[in-house]
Amino acid sequence: MSHENDFPEGHCGERAILIRIHDRDNVAIVVNAGGLPAGRRLEDGTVLADDVPSGHKVALADIDEGAPVIRYGEAIGRAVKAIPRGSRVDESLVRSPSPPALKDLPIATQSGPGLPPLAGYSFEGYRNVDGTAGTRNILGITTSVQCVAGVADHLVRRIREELLPRYPNVDDVVALNHGYGCGVAIDAPAAVIPIRTLQNLARNPNLGDEVMVIGLGCEKLDPERLVPPDRVRASADGRSDPPVLCLQDETFRGFGDMVRAMMGMAERRLARLDLRRRETCPASDLVVGVQCGGSDAFSGVTANPAVGYAADLIVRAGGTVMFSEVTEVRDAIHLLAPRAADETVGRALLREMAWYDRYLESGGADRSANPTPGNKKGGLANVVEKALGSVIKSGSGRIADVLGPGERVRRKGLVFAATPASDFVCGTLQLAAGMNLQVFTTGRGTPYGLPLAPVVKVSSNTPLAERWRDLIDLDAGRIATGEAGIPDVGRELFRLILDVASGRRQAAAERLGLRNDLVLFHPAPVT
Ligand code: CA
Repeated sequence: MSHENDFPEGHCGERAILIRIHDRDNVAIVVNAGGLPAGRRLEDGTVLADDVPSGHKVALADIDEGAPVIRYGEAIGRAVKAIPRGSRVDESLVRSPSPPALKDLPIATQSGPGLPPLAGYSFEGYRNVDGTAGTRNILGITTSVQCVAGVADHLVRRIREELLPRYPNVDDVVALNHGYGCGVAIDAPAAVIPIRTLQNLARNPNLGDEVMVIGLGCEKLDPERLVPPDRVRASADGRSDPPVLCLQDETFRGFGDMVRAMMGMAERRLARLDLRRRETCPASDLVVGVQCGGSDAFSGVTANPAVGYAADLIVRAGGTVMFSEVTEVRDAIHLLAPRAADETVGRALLREMAWYDRYLESGGADRSANPTPGNKKGGLANVVEKALGSVIKSGSGRIADVLGPGERVRRKGLVFAATPASDFVCGTLQLAAGMNLQVFTTGRGTPYGLPLAPVVKVSSNTPLAERWRDLIDLDAGRIATGEAGIPDVGRELFRLILDVASGRRQAAAERLGLRNDLVLFHPAPVT
């Protein structure tokens, strides 16, 4: 990606900085933190007809009614009416196009030989029996139904206060609470999504090889279904430490009995987790999820390209990068399908798009429901513009595999893991897929954090990074102002990922103890 950011020296005050990404673009965005006033002459001779806030678009040429508005070299829509050169181009002036048709898209035509390998990078992680590596050493308490969530929260409080101080090598204890488990059509076809999400969350690499499930005893989702098959074998071999406890067990006389039993169960697992030590793991053991939330017009030119650069480095080092967020990929699918490694992967990608089209349609919505009021305030006209800036997070590599929502990673490299764009739902599904660290870009700002994996937050603009100095881990806004290039920030992010994965550094949300709830994607009926 190339971008020009020099329209230097306006005639009043601070230098005018605009970003135009592609030679074909007939709009550019204003970088200056305070925006630019009407009457300002830009270096190319364009005179601003309107005040243009930071992050918003200016027409660099006259755009006829019905003509394409072009950004990233792609039409983000058509002009609702004639837009004179110098005008501010907001969402009311851009008519969104239909999404690219899924039929007849070229598949796997640009998959190429893959990116050149990159050797010599490693991190200090916790090796698991199944071959994965954790970046943290956490006791996860899986729950089979929402009915037990209050008890699980009580248990976690007690463990943090009474047990955790005695097991200093364990980073945390987390209850995997959720809204599923009973009062649901458990055999509906779409129920496979929340069920496999819960099964795979319990296997997240940051939870070591320990499994502890708290159930009620009468719920539709059998707690035994949440125990990974290898652990079932282990307990059948005579381990006197069954992985499931149900509160309705008739031997319990009241709450005190339950809590005592659960504390014992937790302590046996904490003792084993505490014996684990970090060891050098190749960077190929990284499973990094990338996501954006609270995006603005800078996200697609600063933070997301820097993440894409880091994603390429991780893939080249043999690691796994997952990108997700179907509604933000849908309008750029014509750019992604050619990058599928082969026909099968390409068809799986289109199948996930088609599934989501039908899902939205069944709810009487379409992808235009995506941009938020905050996105628009930040300068994004519609979901096409948002998508073009969002898929840059995937870097430039070929797409090695496609996962359905809640499925577990099975191949290394760049993976599309289908999820909604909703931050907390996407994060939960990426954790289920086996993510051991997440990178999250934001322009508007969000204090987002996850309970099972560190989240490294990258700001798309410097004013946010300065205002939220203690909440943002890396400022990519320096790319807009020309202080740093995309490769500089991309390499810095790669090093930060290795440091955070190794526990040498904590991400901001982790240091502050900020954890969003796990939120399941639950497209099946509630009864
Ligand atoms: Ca998101």
